[in-house]
Amino acid sequence: MISDRMKDMIGSSSAIRAMFEEGKRLASIYGKENVYDFSLGNPSVPAPSKVKDAFIDVINNTNDITLHGYMNNSGFESVRESIAKSINDKFGTAFSCKNIVMTVGAAGGLNVILRAILNPDDEVVLIAPFFGEYLNYVANSFGKSVIVPPNPPSFQPDLSALEKAIGKKTKAVIINTPNNPTGVVYSEDTLKKLAKILEKKSKENNQAIYLISDEPYRELAYDSVEVPYVTKYYANTVVGYSYSKSLSLPGERIGYLVIPDEAEDFENLVSACNVATRILGFVNAPSLQQLAIEKCLGETSDISVYDKNRELLYTKLTEYGFECTKPQGAFYLFVKCPIDEKEFVEKAKELRLLLVGGKSFACEGYVRLAYCVSYKTIQDSLAQFKKLAEETVCKNK
Ligand code: PLP
Repeated sequence: MISDRMKDMIGSSSAIRAMFEEGKRLASIYGKENVYDFSLGNPSVPAPSKVKDAFIDVINNTNDITLHGYMNNSGFESVRESIAKSINDKFGTAFSCKNIVMTVGAAGGLNVILRAILNPDDEVVLIAPFFGEYLNYVANSFGKSVIVPPNPPSFQPDLSALEKAIGKKTKAVIINTPNNPTGVVYSEDTLKKLAKILEKKSKENNQAIYLISDEPYRELAYDSVEVPYVTKYYANTVVGYSYSKSLSLPGERIGYLVIPDEAEDFENLVSACNVATRILGFVNAPSLQQLAIEKCLGETSDISVYDKNRELLYTKLTEYGFECTKPQGAFYLFVKCPIDEKEFVEKAKELRLLLVGGKSFACEGYVRLAYCVSYKTIQDSLAQFKKLAEETVCKNK
């Protein structure tokens, strides 16, 4: 018999599963090309060709024992040194291999850092809307999530609400910029103010509050928007990075944590991340992937494809009367529901448009569209969105 907790979790994942099943059902009736699936954040742009070459090169030219053996829990020193150097070159920081822990994607990194810092019932502040899995990651490490309400239409965090959400038990705040599901990039001004609040609250509480910056979408930024490097604003920042989206490698499970020297309890924090990597069962990030990405630093998938999708979808949806904030990054559009969220998702489904309700991101009354699909899918879906607008936006006016 499975645990009660797992029963609950299976129950709460059913919405996404149901959407997946619904997609399959609709495709069997109308044909796959006539179902417009905007539900999944799976990159649609192939990895750069350099990635394939790198994998082959590593397989052909690395000693088998090194390639397939166990290693330090934080990963290959040479890979970590190369990553540190590439961050320094880009952002003017001064990291070395000792500041980098290789992880099994962003999800692995978040679970590692949370396990490293949380005592039972410690609180982690999440800013809505957020990637729903954060709730599970916090619970995995026996923490409690505290949610700051969303701040539409800018979706920059409401800093006074955030300040109120921080209590004596707050151990960390998680931010995600560029953001899933809004595509919003937190401004430098936001980060500076956030840093001031965290410094003040850490002092009041006599306990460091870590800022965990979850950055799988860092490279997916448009219109030359700057995505500030968060360690520059707040010493107790831990950055979680992933190659899932930037190199279109979500199935390969590779990323890293950046833990600056200035972070409170630095030496222990790194040791704790190593232990967490081991005891959570990762042991280390996959060795082939580590060595391959070392050869691809500075490469990104062709994000102009997402940019083109973004422009078309945003322009047309707003023209039809839908309200949404133009995303500056990631590959999501967060659209306000003109009617009740559940009804809106159902109506969209009747029109073969698969969208995810905002409830999954702690922000009811919205839907998320993942536009990491082909341009043709977007073009072909537009007539359906127009109908959806006629049946919802127009009727509601
Ligand atoms: N964080 C956010 C905000 C995400 O959107 C995702 C995946 O979609 C993840 C973390 C997990 O990414 P990874 O595949 O690198 O584990």
